[in-house]
Amino acid sequence: MLPPDIERQRATLEQMSAEELLVWGSRRFGTSIVFATSLGAEDCAILDMIARQTLPIALATIDTGVLFRESYALWSRLEKRYGVEIAAMRTDLLRDSGPAPEIDRLWETAPDQCCRLRKMVPLRRELSGRAAWITGIRREQSETRRNAQPVEWDAAFGLVKINPLVAWTNDQVWSYLRANDVPYNPMHDTGYPSIGCEPCTSPVGEGESGRSGRWRGRDKTECGLHVVPATFVSSSEESRLKPAPTTTHVGAGSSRPNE
Ligand code: SF4
Repeated sequence: MLPPDIERQRATLEQMSAEELLVWGSRRFGTSIVFATSLGAEDCAILDMIARQTLPIALATIDTGVLFRESYALWSRLEKRYGVEIAAMRTDLLRDSGPAPEIDRLWETAPDQCCRLRKMVPLRRELSGRAAWITGIRREQSETRRNAQPVEWDAAFGLVKINPLVAWTNDQVWSYLRANDVPYNPMHDTGYPSIGCEPCTSPVGEGESGRSGRWRGRDKTECGLHVVPATFVSSSEESRLKPAPTTTHVGAGSSRPNE
């Protein structure tokens, strides 16, 4: 659950702008907060806000080893533009010689396990020992994110989760990017509103939802970082999956599973 002092500020936090939430998070958590950027449009806006305010927030992104060339290029571009380092969160199963056999092309046969090993394990390692993390999720992105709150307790990872853009619309995100000349992935202009790993991302057609290009043709809709699967991965890459706790969304009055 949320620390008592944050719980008491809940109403105030819900009224804060994205920039104000980032300043609050930086002051409240000091060096114990990290922004785990997905390199998506929302996360580019958040990085711009952090940089403009020179907030001393650690930056990291998950490198699954199979991101699009454009995503790797954007990663470098953002670092140069803002003069920052965005650390890589990467599974130990990705080696210089290539992926370990247990994860090689795992998305073809077991995408949930692939996401756990390539994303969840390195993220969990980064978040262990931290007190808070920042994400770019928005409520309107999907049904599973509908109850997300500006500040909530992430029981799966055991820390506070700050979602500065949770109430923003897609138009607000793009207005911010354009108004501030923020670098973003050019694939967004060619039918890819949501960009993940190359093997699991396809373009979206007219009238389709923004995330419909992710894991197309499968039941899977989330990699597990922000939703509620029935299982949770432990910090050991070799360990088996363990039952998951639930995540409480402040103000939502309900719990949902998380991983
Ligand atoms: Fe694997 Fe696809 Fe998940 Fe990336 S999005 S980790 S390739 S299953």
